[in-house]
This record gives sequence, C-alpha cells and structure tokens, in this order.
Amino acid sequence: KEELNIIQGALELRVKTVESVLTQLKDCYMVSSDAVLDFNTMSEMMQSGYTRIPVYEGEKSNIVDLLYVKDLAFVDPDDCTPLKTISKFYNHPLHFVFIDTKLDAMLEEFKKGKSHLAIVQRVNNEGEGDPFYEVMGIVTLEDVIEEIIKSEILDE
Ligand code: ADP
Repeated sequence: KEELNIIQGALELRVKTVESVLTQLKDCYMVSSDAVLDFNTMSEMMQSGYTRIPVYEGEKSNIVDLLYVKDLAFVDPDDCTPLKTISKFYNHPLHFVFIDTKLDAMLEEFKKGKSHLAIVQRVNNEGEGDPFYEVMGIVTLEDVIEEIIKSEILDE
C-alpha cells in the first residue's frame, strides 16, 4: 500500500505544479537586508529552525539574497556585523521559478544541485499597469519529495 502511494505520488509530479506545494510568502521566515547581526537577531534566526533564510529589501516580496544559518558560524554577535556584510561574502545564488512549473521539472532543477530552495514567482497582469513579476513564496526539495511520499515528513 505504501509502495502504491509512492508510485502514485511520482506519477502526479507530471501534472501537479509548484503552486500546490509552495510555502506562501506570508508564512516564510525572512530577514531584512538592513538587519544587524546582534545577539537577538542571531538567536532568533537560529531558533527559527530553518536552514535557509531569504533576505528581503524593503518589502517581503523583494527577495535579494539568501542566508544559510551556517553562515553565522563565524559571526560574533558582539561585533554587531551588518547582515549585508555576511550575505555579500557568501553570495549564495538566488533561483527563481514560475508558479506553473511542473513538479517533475522542479525535481530535475533541484537535482542539478544549484540550491534546494527556489523563489516562486508569477506574472501579475491583473492591474491597470504593466505586467510584473510577483513573488508568491518559496519551494524546497523537501516540498517535492513530500509530494512523492505523501505522508508528511517529520523534521528532526
Ligand atoms: P529546512 O532545511 O530549513 O527545514 P526544508 O528544505 O527541509 O527546510 O523545508 C521544510 C519546509 O519548510 C518546506 O515546506 C519549505 O517550504 C519550508 N521552508 C524552508 N525554508 C523556510 C523559511 N525560511 N521560512 C518558511 N518556510 C520555510
């Protein structure tokens, strides 16, 4: 029965899109690019429990960088280092995908190994003005794997 679930999950990757598995922007844990890495900020980031934290400038939909919690390993909170210093130093690539990307294609992208987190955007042409790219959330490899094996993965 479990095998059947997995096979079904794998088959559905071809029809399901990133939209059905993404973590919405409002639920994303992010930090502002002008944050200072003092004790409070650093402990909050570590306590968030996430491995990767998108960095935004101004508003949350404007993601400009990605910080890994492990980037904080050599940061002394007493130095009150600007977050920008660290994010510029590591300069992790940002990876954008469209919301209608099929999950099998997404899995292939992740397998190429750039990053296991992608920022999901769509073309917003609802308003009066010109269409623009709108960030809707993030998707990680785990979201796709979860779709294959269906039952929720319990994080350690
Ligand atoms: P982690 O390694 O940080 O636990 P995973 O890649 O295993 O993250 O993803 C676990 C779940 O958490 C996924 O549903 C993913 O979309 C979500 N997620 C990952 N990073 C964040 C974040 N910074 N804020 C909110 N949700 C996140």
